[in-house]
Amino acid sequence: MKSLTFVYAVHNNLYINLTNRCPCRCTFCIRQQADGAYGSDSLWLEREPECYEVLAEFDKYDVSRYNEIVFCGYGEPMERAEDVSYIGKELKKRFPEAKIRLNTNGLSDKINGCPTAHLLEGAVDIVSVSLNSGNAADYMAVTRPKWEDSFDAMLSFAVECKKYVPQVMFTVVDVISEREINESKAISEKLGIPLRIRAYDS
Ligand code: SF4
Repeated sequence: MKSLTFVYAVHNNLYINLTNRCPCRCTFCIRQQADGAYGSDSLWLEREPECYEVLAEFDKYDVSRYNEIVFCGYGEPMERAEDVSYIGKELKKRFPEAKIRLNTNGLSDKINGCPTAHLLEGAVDIVSVSLNSGNAADYMAVTRPKWEDSFDAMLSFAVECKKYVPQVMFTVVDVISEREINESKAISEKLGIPLRIRAYDS
C-alpha cells in the first residue's frame, strides 16, 4: 500500500521520508522486508512530497518533545540533496534548538554528479554515514550499489562532511563479522570519524 506518510514519529525522534529512490540494494534493507517501519504507516510514497508539504507537517508536532529530527526513510535522502538542504535550514530557523540528523549511504556525490557535502552546512547537525563494512569487497556485496567505486566515494563524502557539519559518524550493523568490525574501527580511526556499532533493528 502506498501512502503520503513523509513525517512520522518513532520513539523520541521525528523522521522525514523524502524519497524511495536509492542507488543501493542493501541485503538487509527494511525496504525488502516490510511495508512499514517500526509500526508507522506504509512508507512507500505515493509521490515525493514538496518541501512546503514537509515543513507544514511540523505544525502537527511539538518539536521540543523530540530528541532529533532525522532525514531517513525508505530511500536515500540525498537523492534530493537540494531539498534536504532547504528543509534543514528552514527547520533550523523555526526550531533553533532542534538537533537535525541526516542518515545517508554517503553516495550523494555519485548520485548528484558533483560535490554536495557543502549543502549540509547550516542544515544538519549530524551526518550518520552507513559504512556497512570495513572493506570495499564486503561493502559492495552487502550494499550492491550502482557504482564500482562506491566504497571510496562514500569515505570521501564522510570526510568532506566534517568541513561543514559539527558531527559526522559512521555506522555498521552488529551482524557483520568481527574482522569487518575491526576493519571498520581502523577506518574510523584513520579518518577521525567515530564509529557507531548499532543493533540490527535499531
Ligand atoms: S542505502 Fe538505505 S535505503 Fe538504500 S538500499 Fe541500503 S538500507 Fe535501503
